Amino acid sequence: MRSHLLNATTAAAYRHSVTEGAERVARRLATAQGPFSGITPAALAPAVDAVDLDRPLGDLTAALDELEDVYLRDAVYFHHPRYLAHLNCPVVLPAVAAEAVLSAVNSSLDTWDQSAGGTLIERRLIDWTAGRIGFGPGADGVFTSGGSQSNLQALLLAREEAGAVAPSRLRIFASACGHFSVQKSATLLGLGPDAVVSVPVDRERRMQSVVLAAELAACRAEGLVPMAIVATAGTTDFGSIDPLPEIAALAAEYGAWMHVDAAYGCGLLVSPTRRHLLDGIERADSVTVDFHKSFFQPVSSSAVLVRDGATLRHATYHADYLNPRRPATAEHLPNQVDKSLQTTRRFDALKLWMTLRVMGAEGVGTLFDEVCALAREGHTLLAADPRFEVVTEPSLSTLVFRFLPESDAPDEAVDRANLHARQALFASGEAVVAGTKVDGRPHLKFTLLNPETTTADLTAVLDLIAGHAAQYLGENLVHA
Ligand SMILES: *Cc1c(COP(=O)(O)O)cnc(C)c1O
Repeated sequence: MRSHLLNATTAAAYRHSVTEGAERVARRLATAQGPFSGITPAALAPAVDAVDLDRPLGDLTAALDELEDVYLRDAVYFHHPRYLAHLNCPVVLPAVAAEAVLSAVNSSLDTWDQSAGGTLIERRLIDWTAGRIGFGPGADGVFTSGGSQSNLQALLLAREEAGAVAPSRLRIFASACGHFSVQKSATLLGLGPDAVVSVPVDRERRMQSVVLAAELAACRAEGLVPMAIVATAGTTDFGSIDPLPEIAALAAEYGAWMHVDAAYGCGLLVSPTRRHLLDGIERADSVTVDFHKSFFQPVSSSAVLVRDGATLRHATYHADYLNPRRPATAEHLPNQVDKSLQTTRRFDALKLWMTLRVMGAEGVGTLFDEVCALAREGHTLLAADPRFEVVTEPSLSTLVFRFLPESDAPDEAVDRANLHARQALFASGEAVVAGTKVDGRPHLKFTLLNPETTTADLTAVLDLIAGHAAQYLGENLVHA
């Protein structure tokens, strides 16, 4: 069994194992006909259930052969140009190479004595990101597992900065299109069930700052405390960006913590042409960035940044075995655990580091610009197509739309036709699109994060959707 340990004597086996795994993936990437096989959970589960976990195969090749059947053959492939569903990106090669390095060395970024240079690299990237945001020299932050954790940590800091106030009196303001992790965080932080105030959006799905101002005034009049305002820079459905300067002014007026959830929109930080869309972000107290969404990084790679690094002390706890409290005279060691909600923590920062060292920031930003431009072209297609109704012009790279038949059909039938089209497309494996609701009605969504996707792909997928929906309506209206 010792031959399975990665160490000085297994270097050859290590090279061979990693290469063999990469070979399997490479073959799948090269031959995938569509983004998905269309398999159902019921059809796939027996193969997974049949694996006897107490009877090992003893050999990597056999285990990889088995993996073909339980995973690789039917995985959902985000590199495919007709994967248009969620905020998943194709990944860049320098980051994938870094992933192999970081898991083999297996640094843990909680303390200097478990990571050394890894800690310094993460800190440089935090400083670099803070610089891109426009924060001053006092800024700081830490890598996290994802946007949900980044939002939780930001709101934890906001709660602590609000001081000694009964949790039931604290309020968080977020747009009606904000991410559900805001609500989840409020609950985890022990705030009351009414803690999150949902602020309505305008036609472009941006928070209405006039309504926010009124809500803040009402909050104060009721003797409640505006703990935080969450501005979303890139809503998950519409990519809409809340009016950051107006929100910053209101946050300052009411003494509320301003958090910008740029989990999706962070790619604009490196965009050669669209950086201005984030103007005002530099006035935030904290910012969430998901490199695994718009920086083409493998999951996970995310960070939370704060304008005043001292506020991270609210996440600092000491343990004698890990990061003991030191007398002021002792040598200062950088221990990232002092700033993190996690203890053992992956060296995800290495992926971004290698990406920037190989491609540069502008290389990443150019890819994100390409998908934003593709979304504009997709909007033009949809707006000119009588079979569809599109909700808003894209701010980033999503399109929310719905099939509308030319003949009169009851709303409920049209709703079901749209749901059916998405499901039928998924089952065919030819393309994957997302679904959401707008004003209570089911809609379809393209999330475009693949620069390899073309307008011809969009046209082809729209034809497939229209075909499935029309067929459904034809069958169901005849039988009705
Ligand atoms: C995706 C997303 C999140 C959550 O990020 P995870 O990395 O999935 O945890 C938060 N906010 C917005 C706006 C998002 O789009």
